[in-house]
Amino acid sequence: MFPPDRIAVHAADTAAAGDAPAPGLIADLVAANHILFDQGVVDAFGHISARHDKRPDRFLLARNMAPGNVTAADIVEFDLDGNPVNADGRKVYLERFIHGEIFRARPDVMAMVHSHSHNIVPLSVVKDVPLRAIFHMAGFIGEAAPVFEIREAGGDGTDLLISDNALGRALAEKFADADIALMRGHGSTVVANSVPLAVYRAVYAELNARYQLQASGLGEITYLTAAEGRACVGRVEGQVQRPWDLWKAEAEKRRAA
Ligand code: MN
Repeated sequence: MFPPDRIAVHAADTAAAGDAPAPGLIADLVAANHILFDQGVVDAFGHISARHDKRPDRFLLARNMAPGNVTAADIVEFDLDGNPVNADGRKVYLERFIHGEIFRARPDVMAMVHSHSHNIVPLSVVKDVPLRAIFHMAGFIGEAAPVFEIREAGGDGTDLLISDNALGRALAEKFADADIALMRGHGSTVVANSVPLAVYRAVYAELNARYQLQASGLGEITYLTAAEGRACVGRVEGQVQRPWDLWKAEAEKRRAA
């Protein structure tokens, strides 16, 4: 297993790349990186991964770089321990262990987004006020998004990053009954059964957080019930292709010049 590295930077390849992933999956992952930047979910930090379509024990994630600039050539294949198999000495993300450990714990998950989006962070630090579904586009959040407290797994003095497999496993436990987990003083991770749905959920989780912060200053909030949240997942998320097509086309236009 590749040792956890907090400082550094060049990760050694430990195995051969598997069968090539579908070109369409790579294209979607590249588009997802651009969309998440365009939508303000990620800035220079944050990342999105997809499970390999031919090797469920592998996943795809950009090399260590700003998501807005990712190209197909920047996508690296990893095993579930977070070892890159074709990085060829390129820097990889310190927090790749988020992806490997959640893909391992949740066989149904095909993609995930880790971000520090601006309105989620306040809700990660206030005790007794969970992120909750406040509107129909974010029913998947449910009645109380779990919060990962890194001190419970890593003690005092961590840099709050998920920089090894043990921390990744501790975070993955939060996904036993949830598709989003906040990370105290850090951000969030959102999972889904496809790249477009992971992007959709990351975008609308951030909007939900913004609305919750705005509404909480006005008075008592009527949140979605659990039943309403479930109904919205069933119906509204079925529309995911519409925003995905729009966002992808806009991202391509923006970068075509
Ligand atoms: Mn992070």
